[in-house]
Amino acid sequence: MTHSHKVGRFTVTWLVDGYGRAPNTLFPNFDMDRARAAADQAGHEYDGQTVEIPIQGFAIQDGDEITIVDAGAPDGYSDTTGKFVAAMEQAGIDPTRVTRLAMTHLHVDHVGQMVEPDGTMRFPNAQLVSGAGDWDHFFDDAFYASKKPGGREQASIDVTRRACLPYAQQRREITGETEIAPGLTMVPLPGHTPGHCGIRIDDGGDSLLIWGDIIHSATFQVAEPDWGVLFDIDPDQARATRQALFAKIAQDGTPITGPHVPRPGPWRVEKAPIGYRLTAI
Ligand SMILES: [Zn+2]
Repeated sequence: MTHSHKVGRFTVTWLVDGYGRAPNTLFPNFDMDRARAAADQAGHEYDGQTVEIPIQGFAIQDGDEITIVDAGAPDGYSDTTGKFVAAMEQAGIDPTRVTRLAMTHLHVDHVGQMVEPDGTMRFPNAQLVSGAGDWDHFFDDAFYASKKPGGREQASIDVTRRACLPYAQQRREITGETEIAPGLTMVPLPGHTPGHCGIRIDDGGDSLLIWGDIIHSATFQVAEPDWGVLFDIDPDQARATRQALFAKIAQDGTPITGPHVPRPGPWRVEKAPIGYRLTAI
């Protein structure tokens, strides 16, 4: 079942790839008592070992124009992912008609299905739009060489490079908050990666912020916005960005969703006895 939501004239469709399970060690600040209290407040099941992390992208339709926000995990990523392309088909989206890939960032679980299994573009008519700094980070040979040869981190960068490189001649980088199409704005939310962005949709007083990887686990990080993840490239910046965004949207009530936010949503972020909580709209 595909899930769609109207934001003014836009139709936003959840393209569910699947989910992963993250061990407690994904969160460097992990503390068992706080984790249990956070899960209780969120009303989420927590087995004391792992939490479920949803993985999804989004299609934003504005008349005939289709923007994809994030494109799932690569083939073979896990036993519980791999549904992104089927989700697109089910939603009736022809990849050749997609004109824009608006990427929250270029980590593997977001760029995975930008290419066909043979490495050619799945979205040949789409411009790749990402926050300034991400491309350079993932194509930085010195950074690559600093990781263990043949290790997991190099393998993950390899996948990002393979997915992005075919788009090298049709890409655009965003610096600062930028409207990339009428009613679609890229909002820099740096830290998780250098160019990490949210994508905000606005029309006629309606809005929705797809906030990228501001959280990986709604079970823990909404109550504990100080908790980052192992893959934050600049953990202090990521924490400051998350804190500032939560404070702002708890005030202004901006509806949110994201690649790792529970479905269906959208949600609002509200102050709660411990930190914040998500409330259904
Ligand atoms: Zn992610």
